[in-house]
Amino acid sequence: ATGAQLIDGKAFAAELRERIRQAVPKFHEQTGRTPGLAVVLVGEDPASQVYVASKHKATVAAGMESFEHRLPADTSQEELIALVRSLNEDDSVDGILVQLPLPGDLDEKAVVMAIDPDKDVDGLHVINAGRLANGEEALTPCTPLGSLMLLKDQLGDLSGLNAVVVGRSILVGKPMAQLLLAENCTVTMAHSRTRDLPNVVRGADIVVAAVGRAEIVKGDWLKEGAVVIDVGINRLAPEPGKERGRLVGDVATSEAMGHVRAITPVPGGVGPMTIAVLLRNTLVAASRRAGLAEPE
Ligand code: NDP
Repeated sequence: ATGAQLIDGKAFAAELRERIRQAVPKFHEQTGRTPGLAVVLVGEDPASQVYVASKHKATVAAGMESFEHRLPADTSQEELIALVRSLNEDDSVDGILVQLPLPGDLDEKAVVMAIDPDKDVDGLHVINAGRLANGEEALTPCTPLGSLMLLKDQLGDLSGLNAVVVGRSILVGKPMAQLLLAENCTVTMAHSRTRDLPNVVRGADIVVAAVGRAEIVKGDWLKEGAVVIDVGINRLAPEPGKERGRLVGDVATSEAMGHVRAITPVPGGVGPMTIAVLLRNTLVAASRRAGLAEPE
């Protein structure tokens, strides 16, 4: 089909951030305080530093409190968990995010489990995964929740649609599948052991690719009129004379455009949604903690 649409995640995320910015003063009127997000960065990983800086900037731009905690790479497990516990107790903190990956021998799972589930704005605590699976009030990982928002904006009611999620990580694939199931999709989870992935994908009205392999999903795998969410962020080898390679997703976008109804570009699709949903999760956590109705 010609006329396939590129889904503008950047614009959608900007609108979401604006709605949050407007909700913050209302929260302040009702509670006398400002929602706060604490971000913990251990070590000097360059990508993590960039992520933490952009989270800080977005939090401040939304009118929320941003608390940054930068710890040296040789921080011990005990010190890190002690910091997380102090943030759990701190009433000015509504959301806690520990930037992953952690350096050295630090035990990521133990650190995430130390976060109060009601402040776990990344949605990575098993309690939140369990609540999501059971259809209870949860904090949901930002990237899949942002992907779902884009899908609902495109398709409205998702009920009865066939959805294929490629990738089954705790961060993206699994919660994505749970969210689609909760929307009454018929959900298939595909992964590295899936047999005949092209044919599995061909049955899908909705495809979410969260693999981390450049352009693994080809255009002719896609059903006519499918809506495709490309979560992958992969950097290609630089072309001659260039310093850095291009960023591409897990889907061969230009091929896909010949088949699909709509697809998220990389960059500018899902990526910008992730931070916007982090702000949303912080406001949601703050509202629940204050016993207020949830923001829309
Ligand atoms: P993981 O590496 O944790 O998971 C990748 C998944 O893909 C695994 O379940 C793996 O299967 C599956 N897989 C690997 N190879 C194949 C294959 N050949 N065929 C089918 N499935 C395969 O990655 P994440 O989920 O953390 O991230 C996925 C991608 O999304 C990455 O590119 C990442 O950079 C990007 N990302 C983007 C975000 C954003 O803000 N836009 C946020 C988070 C991630 P198995 O389980 O069998 O090993």
